[in-house]
Amino acid sequence: MKVELLEATPNPEKVVARAARNDYMSEYGADMDFEEVMADIDGDTLEEKKETLIGHLLSHGHFGPFEHVQATFHVKGISRSCMAQITRHRHASFDIQSMRYVSFDDVDPEDVAEGELVVTPPSATDPDWIGRNQKTGAVDEETVEKREEVFRESVKRSVEDYQELLDLGMPPEDARFVLPIGTEVNMVMSLNARMLMHVADMRAAADAQWEIRQMTESILDYAAEWCPLTFDYYEENMKNRKNRLAP
Ligand SMILES: Cc1cc2nc3c(=O)[nH]c(=O)nc-3n(C[C@H](O)[C@H](O)[C@H](O)COP(=O)(O)OP(=O)(O)OC[C@H]3O[C@@H](n4cnc5c(N)ncnc54)[C@H](O)[C@@H]3O)c2cc1C
Repeated sequence: MKVELLEATPNPEKVVARAARNDYMSEYGADMDFEEVMADIDGDTLEEKKETLIGHLLSHGHFGPFEHVQATFHVKGISRSCMAQITRHRHASFDIQSMRYVSFDDVDPEDVAEGELVVTPPSATDPDWIGRNQKTGAVDEETVEKREEVFRESVKRSVEDYQELLDLGMPPEDARFVLPIGTEVNMVMSLNARMLMHVADMRAAADAQWEIRQMTESILDYAAEWCPLTFDYYEENMKNRKNRLAP
C-alpha cells in the first residue's frame, strides 16, 4: 500500500479560524485582516491564538469550521475489501480504479502467487499474527505454512481463471467476478478535516481491520503536517476515545 497527499486547502487552520470567528463577530470578517479577526483570542502570537481557538473548538465539539478545508489523497494497492470499508463513509468523495475498463490480462499468475495484484494478509504468513475475529490464538509454523500455500494457490488460480475467461471473449466487467476480494485497487479520496477525524475515530481504532488502520495512520501522518494544530490536538486528546465527531 502507498498513500500520497495530492492536494490540500492552503492555510487550512487560518480558514478554520476565520470560519469559527465569523460565528461570534458582529463585523463582516472578510473586510478585516486576520490579526483583527483574532484580536480577542488568547495568545501572544497569531500561532498561539490559532492554537487556543482550535483547542477550544475541538474540546467543545464545535466541529463545523473543520468542514471548510479538504485534503485529497491518492492511495495505491489496497484490497477491494479495504476499499469497500472506506467507501462506506458518505461525506468523503472517491474515484476508484475500474475493473470494467482496466483488465489484468498481462499479469503473470506465478507473480500473483508471490504477492502481485492481490494483497496478502499478515495472517497468511505470520504465525504470531492474531486477528480480531480469530477463534484460535497463535499457530505453529506448519499451520501457517499450509495457510500460505492454500492462499497463494487460490489467488493464482483465480487469476488464471480470470485470464482464461478473457481469452474466451468474456468482457472484463464479467470475468472479474472470479477475482478475489483481496485484489488490489487504486483510489483517490477527498475528505474535509472533520470527516478525516471521524474516519480516524472509526478506522484507526483497535477494532478496525489492520489494512484500513494502516491506511488511516498514513493519512493521519499527512494530516499532522497539513493541519498541525488540529491533528496534534486530535492525537493528544481525542484519538482512541469514544467516537464523538458524529455521535
Ligand atoms: C469495526 C467496524 C466494523 C463494521 N462492521 C460492519 C458490518 O459488519 N456491516 C456493515 O454494514 N457495516 C459495518 N461497519 C460500517 C459502519 O457501520 C458504518 O456504516 C461506516 O463505518 C460509516 O460510518 P458512519 O456510520 O459514521 O457514517 P459516515 O458516512 O462516515 O457519516 C458520518 C456521520 O454522519 C451521520 N450520517 C451520515 N449519513 C447519515 C444518515 N443517512 N442518517 C443519519 N445520520 C447520518 C452519522 O452521524 C455518521 O456517523 C463497520 C465499521 C467498523 C468501524
